[in-house]
Amino acid sequence: APILVAIDGPAGSGKSSVSRAAATRLGFGILDTGAAYRALAWAALETGADLDAEPAVLELLGAWRFDITLRGEQRVTVVLPGASAPSDVTAAIREHAVSGQVSRVSQHPAVRDRLNDMFRAIVAGSGLPGVVIEGRDITTVVAPDAPVRILMTASPEVRAERRAGELSGVSREQVLADIIARDAKDTLVVDFMNPAPGVTLVDTSDLDFEQSIQAVIDVVQA
Ligand code: C5P
Repeated sequence: APILVAIDGPAGSGKSSVSRAAATRLGFGILDTGAAYRALAWAALETGADLDAEPAVLELLGAWRFDITLRGEQRVTVVLPGASAPSDVTAAIREHAVSGQVSRVSQHPAVRDRLNDMFRAIVAGSGLPGVVIEGRDITTVVAPDAPVRILMTASPEVRAERRAGELSGVSREQVLADIIARDAKDTLVVDFMNPAPGVTLVDTSDLDFEQSIQAVIDVVQA
């Protein structure tokens, strides 16, 4: 089985970009679990499913096909129920329409259970020496036995600054408001602000990108 590096944290903590870069240096794959929640939200919006109804989201989960690359470019594709061809949703799942709605599909416990099984299967079948798996509940629920577990944080202001830099045409204030609103909804479901016992806290507020990558590598090699 691949060596697992579990990384949790809120939006804008640097988690996604740092995890990807650290995975590349380690020669590991990277599984972005948020992309699956986003793809599910995209599919639910696309098919008109009720995002707040657990049975409707579960039904969609049973009928769609999800695919994500673990190396190189993080391409995400979805085959909608009844569709014959995959849709490349790599860009679409990052749009505001999805970011603003994704917490609705991720609130359902049975949906989370099913996605967690899917994540474990993707990792187990990856054929890779190791996988960095990042999300909100990886250190606590998906892979609590991972040999390396990290909670990456940064102050809300720093996180908003980073996100605003990634999104064009959106004010820093709007980004901060969106991040705080999404964190508030998500933390009702999973506590990703406080490290569980045995989880190493990496605060990137005062670290640049390179220092953040090194902080992760240091934990892995400790
Ligand atoms: O990591 P990212 O910000 O792309 O995650 C998108 C959304 O997916 C989160 O806001 C949260 O609702 C959900 N999520 C989750 N559990 C995970 C990863 C993501 O609930 N492990």
